[in-house]
Amino acid sequence: MTTQDTGMGFSLYHYQLPLAQPLPLGQQRIHSREGLILHIDALQQSVEIAPLPSFSKESLDDCINSLQQLLSTVPLEALSQSSSQNLAQWMAPFKSAPNSVQFGLSLLWLKCNDLLPARPNRNRQPLLFGETEQLAQQLSQLPEETKIVKLKVGPDIHGSVANIYQVIEARPQLKLRLDANQSLSLEQAQVLYAMIPKANIDYVEEPCARVEDAQQLYQEYGIRYAQDESLLQTEDYQPHPGLAAVVLKPSLLGSIEVLEKFAEQAQAEGVEVVISSAFESSFGIHDLACLANHYAPLGYPGLDTLNHHQADLLQPSLYGSPESPAKPLLTLNELSLI
Ligand SMILES: [Mg+2]
Repeated sequence: MTTQDTGMGFSLYHYQLPLAQPLPLGQQRIHSREGLILHIDALQQSVEIAPLPSFSKESLDDCINSLQQLLSTVPLEALSQSSSQNLAQWMAPFKSAPNSVQFGLSLLWLKCNDLLPARPNRNRQPLLFGETEQLAQQLSQLPEETKIVKLKVGPDIHGSVANIYQVIEARPQLKLRLDANQSLSLEQAQVLYAMIPKANIDYVEEPCARVEDAQQLYQEYGIRYAQDESLLQTEDYQPHPGLAAVVLKPSLLGSIEVLEKFAEQAQAEGVEVVISSAFESSFGIHDLACLANHYAPLGYPGLDTLNHHQADLLQPSLYGSPESPAKPLLTLNELSLI
């Protein structure tokens, strides 16, 4: 759909990127990643809007309906740099839009007003996954300069511990960021914490369903924690000496104003801000890396999630290297116009 009446039309494109392996998301598995690219014709700026199945409340259709409705009533001239509007004024008509739409529209405002850093934060935090053999293969390909890796852990405590030791034996200098996605009981977490080498653990992300359990684990074992899922249910977080990082997934949080509030609180308290992906395309990941450069220029964002994407979109992969074969790069013209 394009609008011509304001003189600043927009175009909405649909993308579908096949994945090399099915991606488990909550109770479902997806075989391709779908999303939208909103393009403002006159300003030649685009943003990605890609709700994450099982995690976003809205569907792709909800986003399309919301965008078509809202953008036909809001004058897009307000986006241009000559406008005296600030972000809050621009976002006022979009307060009831789905979170991924609010994120996209707030990011669009930043980009149109030259407020998004042009350069991405390229610090890489590789995401390791799978069992022994898969893990060994990833470890053999890990860039030499890698300092921090992320590893999922779960209720199979002995399997999780074996994975952790496999990583450390291969690369003793690495710091691990473990992510349990709230899957452990306090008792399971206590067994895990008792068996893992504290010096190699940077933090454990969401060990249990309750933040209080992560705090108790810090008191008992001295291992710090990070919050991710639990931030989606609140507007702020409880400061605590054991809190190492807040993991912020902009697409799930909504307007960048929400992200900003969390980031300001974290920065004031010396808590690391980890901008993290919701499995966006290479284009969305690049914008997130630029946001990461603003909020945590020295930090390690959680953006290494393009391993299974079989094509890049508009922008080559952030961590593409001469060793890794280039993927096909889709342009706007190759996407379907809605
Ligand atoms: Mg997490």
